[in-house]
Amino acid sequence: MSDHYDVVVVGGGVTGAGVARDCAMRGLRTLLLERGRPGMATTVSSTHLIHGGLRYLLYDRLTTHTTCWDSGHIIRIARPLLHRLPILWPVYADHTHGLETVETLLEVYDHFQEMKGGKRHLRLTPEETLRLVPGLEAKGLRGAVAFDEWWIDPVALVDANLESAKRHGAEVLTGTPVTGLLRSVGRVDGVVAGDRQIRAGVTINAAGPWVDKVARLAGTHIPLRLQKGTHLRYDERLTPVGLLLEAVDRGRYVFVVPSPQGTLVGPTDLPAPEDPDKVATTPDEVSYLLASVRRYLPAFPERFAETTVGARPILGQAGSEKLLSREYEVFDHGTRDRLDGLLTIGGGKMSDFRVMAEAVTNLACLKLNHPGACTTFRETLDGRPVDSIPEFPQAAPALKRFLRRHPRLREWHALAHLGAAFARHLAKRAAGAGSLRITAEDVSAYYA
Ligand SMILES: Cc1cc2nc3c(=O)[nH]c(=O)nc-3n(C[C@H](O)[C@H](O)[C@H](O)COP(=O)(O)OP(=O)(O)OC[C@H]3O[C@@H](n4cnc5c(N)ncnc54)[C@H](O)[C@@H]3O)c2cc1C
Repeated sequence: MSDHYDVVVVGGGVTGAGVARDCAMRGLRTLLLERGRPGMATTVSSTHLIHGGLRYLLYDRLTTHTTCWDSGHIIRIARPLLHRLPILWPVYADHTHGLETVETLLEVYDHFQEMKGGKRHLRLTPEETLRLVPGLEAKGLRGAVAFDEWWIDPVALVDANLESAKRHGAEVLTGTPVTGLLRSVGRVDGVVAGDRQIRAGVTINAAGPWVDKVARLAGTHIPLRLQKGTHLRYDERLTPVGLLLEAVDRGRYVFVVPSPQGTLVGPTDLPAPEDPDKVATTPDEVSYLLASVRRYLPAFPERFAETTVGARPILGQAGSEKLLSREYEVFDHGTRDRLDGLLTIGGGKMSDFRVMAEAVTNLACLKLNHPGACTTFRETLDGRPVDSIPEFPQAAPALKRFLRRHPRLREWHALAHLGAAFARHLAKRAAGAGSLRITAEDVSAYYA
């Protein structure tokens, strides 16, 4: 091991692993430091979905766009780690959103599905819904809508990124917490890890919900609004398809995600303590998740293998808990805090980790005066060239920047699109078109 690198990355979740890979692929001498085991913090406590963020269409359309766009790249580079997961959203008479509203949302989502290799939605009658999920409560069922996402083993995704980074020359140290930052006047010169001092041209803080704790080592601060999320994990595969269920507190939803690793039920969505090390599941969350799933599947087992919990690394912002943007941001502490040599990548999701890594590595290259463009989307994680890369437009950056500063307008922007889509949907239904009558073959092809 050397004691001088171009880049030192702090944090070995999916974000840090993606950053290390990007830096190494551009030829930067790179070291990643992870205090525990890679991927075993927030990343493993996720819902395990590479998804576009259907619900952000209600208030933050451009995040759905970005996430779907980058999910497409992730799917192409990590295809063997993914399973297609069609999800069924059953709609009941007493639900907050009726079938027409739900189908409108899915019609809008259809526009983004192509970017991530997803199929268009299907609308199912109550009979078709019950055929697909025997045991589902029949009383009040109005029908369902099926849509497409991807399941992934998040730890395998982190490991594959790190393996790729190592093949491109990066070094990775696990079980190594960063305990301090090396400082000189107006600069961060690297990190302290136990009794070692490691110098770096650029230090990248990619510590997920811990980014503020790491930033504080340099006397600065990253505002966060952490949100806690718990899942119940079962060892068995308990449903034939994925489900999205309106929770018992109405207006919120929980997933049931069957996978080769068993079944996840969750997540919850609650304000988290400021210190991510203090995040823990409460008995109320367990009761809430069980009640929410057993309302629709009365025979769903009450005994689960374990709970998982994590803090979403959401950036500090005004507004209601329900409308928090999942956007990511690169913080340049040189311009922001007169601390050159330190960058933070904060916010975001697993489903856009690759573009987050690209954004912060672009800035690191600029700081280091290092040429080299991002190629992480051109090579699979196991080292093969990506065959074809469709050209989809990215979300307009200037509009994104503007709406970030105006959350109210960001919500109106999303609602205006949905309103127009709802009008089109109703006109189509009035004209007798629409998707109510699908065949058994359509359904089995969707679930093949
Ligand atoms: C309940 C829940 C469900 C979610 N579901 C999804 C989903 O289905 N799809 C999706 O796209 N996103 C999902 N997310 C969001 C997603 O999980 C996160 O955005 C993502 O995993 C964050 O990755 P990260 O690498 O930034 O953070 P982490 O995975 O937390 O990694 C940060 C790493 O930094 C390390 N670290 C911290 N301090 C130090 C230090 N001082 N020195 C060295 N290392 C340090 C930690 O040990 C940790 O491993 C979910 C989040 C939650 C909480």
